[in-house]
Amino acid sequence: MFKILITGVAGFIGSHTCVRLLNLGFDIVGIDNFHNSSHEVINSILKITNRKIVFYEADIRNSKKLCEIFKKEKPEAVIHFAGLKSVAESVEKPLEYYDNNVSGTICLCRVMEKFGIKKMIFSSSATVYENSNPPFDEESQVSAPKNPYGKTKFTIEQILFDLKDWDIALLRYFNPIGAHESGDLKESPLGIPNNLMPHIINTALGKMPFLTIFGNDYPTFDGTCVRDYIHVEDLSEGHSKALDFILNKKGIEVFNLGTGIGTSVLELIKIFEKTNKIKLKYKIGPRRLGDVAVCYALTEKSQNKLNWKPRFDIEKMCRDAWDAAL
Ligand code: NAD
Ligand code: UDP
Repeated sequence: MFKILITGVAGFIGSHTCVRLLNLGFDIVGIDNFHNSSHEVINSILKITNRKIVFYEADIRNSKKLCEIFKKEKPEAVIHFAGLKSVAESVEKPLEYYDNNVSGTICLCRVMEKFGIKKMIFSSSATVYENSNPPFDEESQVSAPKNPYGKTKFTIEQILFDLKDWDIALLRYFNPIGAHESGDLKESPLGIPNNLMPHIINTALGKMPFLTIFGNDYPTFDGTCVRDYIHVEDLSEGHSKALDFILNKKGIEVFNLGTGIGTSVLELIKIFEKTNKIKLKYKIGPRRLGDVAVCYALTEKSQNKLNWKPRFDIEKMCRDAWDAAL
């Protein structure tokens, strides 16, 4: 069976994808530096799948260590999740973001090239569409987002487009939420979370007195921002399909991973409350800098070329996220 190296394997999306690939029979070599995750996740992966991964606590910017790993493990392809992902933090610490995300990816690619491995799946983001008009397909105009985090994704995309003889699936995620049905894997960021669902969960758990909705004066039907939420399990399936794609096809291809359905912040709160029979305290606050009003995907290309279709609705996303938090 194929051996796949996963960077950021202990993270939210990396861990779910790792479980899926183990269940499909792939051998996995995982790398993480635990900047935003913990070793417990590696144990959870074993608990769920009853299969061991080969794990290295390593930083993708450590070229020497990466060379040792590639020499020993000889992976066929790489799924590259490792990266910093907080927009707000990136504004505070731009150099850390450029170094970790951009320099880290260059370091990884150089090692891959050295060992003749030229197949990669990269975690990009719908943020690269922020100056276009929704809904977004893969042909929609992309540009450098305003914040450093988004710029790292845009820059890495541009770098990967220049690697002409590589086979790459560039996956633009919309808003992954939810959790593994076992409850053993979930989004568990260290420190203050950035995204909406961890804030909803923390409010529901009483760890935060109330949730702040960032603006209700957007040009949307209820004034709050609309996003395309996708279950992390559908997202992980998108990666296994993208892996089939790069193992069998040549060149670089971009794919949106979203559901194509927009949900507003207020709607998500209401659905979470109704599904989980819990009341959330919230207040309306000012807009968050850099937020776009509406962001959702057109998913025809992923559905047709990857033979992938998201299966889970927003109620299931809210239920699984809450069950895993309890
Ligand atoms: P996450 O923070 O849960 O996982 C990332 C993992 O990478 C963490 O375990 C972290 O410790 C590790 N890591 C970070 N820098 C590293 C380094 N230099 N060396 C080794 N390991 C390192 O994030 P996630 O939600 O699983 O996101 C995975 C990828 O998807 C990221 O690149 C992120 O930017 C991208 N993405 C995420 C979202 C989202 O909403 N979650 C949306 C679009 C794109
Ligand atoms: N959001 C919010 N309160 C929060 C966190 C997020 O109102 O505490 C809003 C945010 O303004 C955006 C939506 O929720 O409109 C999704 O934000 P998230 O950070 O999860 O994703 P992204 O901004 O990347 O789409």
